[in-house]
Amino acid sequence: MTTDDIQPTPLVVASNRLPVGLRFTDGVLSLERTAGGLVAAVDGVARGIGCDWVGWPGSPVEPPVQAEVVSALAAQRLHPVFLGAEEEAQYYRRLANETIWPLFHYFADKSSFDEQAWRSYVAINRRFADEILRIAPLDARVWVHDFHLMLVPTMLREARDDLEIGFFLHIPFPASEVYRLLPVREELLRGLLGADLIGFHTIDYARHFLTSCVRVLGLEVEHDSVSFEDRRVEVGVHPIGVDVARFDALLDSSEVAARIDELRSQYGARRIVLGVERLDYTKGVGHKLRAFERMLERREDLRGHVTLLQVIVPSRLDSPDYSGLKRELEEHIGRINGRFGQVGSTPVEYLHRSVDPVSLAALYRFADACLGTPLRDGMNLVAQEYVLCQEPRPTLGDECRGMLVLSEFAGASHVLSRALLVNPWHVESTSTALETALGMPEDERRERTVAMAERVRSLDCTKWASRFLLRQAEANRRNRRRTSLLLRGQEEERVRIAITRASRRFLFLDYDGTLREIAPTPQEARPDPALRELLRALARDERNAVHIVSGRRRLDVDRWLTGLGVHLCAEHGFAWRTPDSPQWHELDGVDLSWLPAVHDILARVCEEGPGTSRERKGSGLAWHYRQSDAEYGPWRARELLSELSASLARLPVEVVHGHRVVEVRAAGVHKGAYVTRVLADRSPSDAVLCIGDDRADRDMFRALPDTAIAVHVGRGDEHAKYRIESPARVRALLARLLGPRSVLERA
Ligand code: UDP
Repeated sequence: MTTDDIQPTPLVVASNRLPVGLRFTDGVLSLERTAGGLVAAVDGVARGIGCDWVGWPGSPVEPPVQAEVVSALAAQRLHPVFLGAEEEAQYYRRLANETIWPLFHYFADKSSFDEQAWRSYVAINRRFADEILRIAPLDARVWVHDFHLMLVPTMLREARDDLEIGFFLHIPFPASEVYRLLPVREELLRGLLGADLIGFHTIDYARHFLTSCVRVLGLEVEHDSVSFEDRRVEVGVHPIGVDVARFDALLDSSEVAARIDELRSQYGARRIVLGVERLDYTKGVGHKLRAFERMLERREDLRGHVTLLQVIVPSRLDSPDYSGLKRELEEHIGRINGRFGQVGSTPVEYLHRSVDPVSLAALYRFADACLGTPLRDGMNLVAQEYVLCQEPRPTLGDECRGMLVLSEFAGASHVLSRALLVNPWHVESTSTALETALGMPEDERRERTVAMAERVRSLDCTKWASRFLLRQAEANRRNRRRTSLLLRGQEEERVRIAITRASRRFLFLDYDGTLREIAPTPQEARPDPALRELLRALARDERNAVHIVSGRRRLDVDRWLTGLGVHLCAEHGFAWRTPDSPQWHELDGVDLSWLPAVHDILARVCEEGPGTSRERKGSGLAWHYRQSDAEYGPWRARELLSELSASLARLPVEVVHGHRVVEVRAAGVHKGAYVTRVLADRSPSDAVLCIGDDRADRDMFRALPDTAIAVHVGRGDEHAKYRIESPARVRALLARLLGPRSVLERA
């Protein structure tokens, strides 16, 4: 794969911040491009075609100068979304940083929710979406980033079906038990599901997201996708990497070599443990200090010989939480230095500022250990950067000085499994892991470092972006490849004309999920008066032969649909009756000798699974799990399917996994067989319309003549030329296609 594979489609990136800082000096505007993994990644993939980038410029811009800023940024294909001071406070500081950020990092007690901030979040997401829509050409590829913009994918999808939309979450996605504490849990999930592909750093985050879709929205998921409305939203694991080329260049530079020499003369033989973190409660710096302190308590011999060099990059200091954290850490550092400091040696050296890239690379190269103890961290790039800089290099020597000690709660622990992984909450074991790192033999350090550095190289941010965008394009292509056309506008008109012109029309209509929405229990899905009236009106037109083809028992079908003038087919084609006779007919010669054995299996499954039920049908049995626990049902269904296929292998049965139902039915008994029989006396000029939603309805689609109009309710089906979104739209369609005006109005 090369970046050329993803070149031709125009790319629009959206992130909270634009990759640029604005500076006004004496009223003159200048722009400073910021560095960072995302910028490097996007620059890498956009080489050649370029890319448009939508984001907030990061500081307030007064209305009179906005036009000037817009045109200066436009020269770099950057498109600002301006925020007023109050909007910044509400959308960014309150909702993004004080609701989503803490909750997604499992700090539920720090997460607070405020309606006004939420309204602002929605409005600013809308502003981002509008800007994207304004600049995105037809069929553009849009890539939306991170927790500030979780509503944007669906806002785009609702406006434009031509766009290819991806979303990447750079922070953790919490376990569904934590996620569901969020007052706007449904809105955020729905906001994301407009995307073709949603990416996460780790399999855990992806799984948590999928479970939340099941638990919060009741959606059906597979291990790598969610079925949402008429689309399949793919879920991918794409751990981001660092800008490898940038670090390689730094480490080859004479500046870094000189800085390393300076460090060597400054620290001599003293062992250096490095910590680099943004000031944030998720980073677990307090836990790290405790572990370091504990090591010094236990290992008197190390006192005076080892220094923790802790860089804390200032962040969000306007928040009392963060300024309080800074004070707390400084007090703790003071205590450690008071306890263990000696003349000429300070146990913890602390920098509360940014470090320039040359110094940072030199520190990474020089340090004997890097200790990262985040309590939660989406990825933790510092860990990757440290490992990369530790790699043996011709220019800097072959030695491998250091070892990484890393929290297992950082996403990076999934990709750097050869690090010494620790639970930062366990102070004792973290401190012994640090000891192990400092005492690790050189050959073991080398072997681990080389393996990890290789992994870091493969995750390189440009490769990451290429892989993500390629997968996004594939996901979009798969969604577009739905062979079924949406039955709207001109297509609907074409179908209407074909049907109205025919002198005889066969209508094969499934019931549940087609004419009527799926209800929590099968008994609740009875037809309302409007639906009954619609069917009656359809049947009244003597050119129409209306067949309700259901999987239900004949009892239900009889009770609900008798007297409407329609043909009824029940139990997946096993039994049927005409409008003018109460007599049911059954298929002859069907072998049902296997029924008792299946009955016993399903009885046991029902006993084990609360909320599941068994249903006897004329030619088979069904196990329903619609009311069972949202995760348990699909899981048990998969187990049951393999159990049934093993025990029924040589019997004349078919096992069908339908919509929250597993059915075992006699072979050869299916809706298609019914359709074939009915159509036996059809003449070529007759119109045939068939609508269904379930896997069992595929049998009908397959049995249709080429000229028939097959419509799938939902995402589309390879055997149906058309698709339609919902039962409500089916009813409206039938009314428009065939019914008299009065019906149209009532349906
Ligand atoms: N970093 C920086 N300036 C510094 C120290 C660190 O720009 O003074 C960079 C560091 O190289 C790394 C990033 O900040 O790329 C921190 O990323 P990480 O994933 O570890 O944590 P985040 O701050 O994104 O939560």
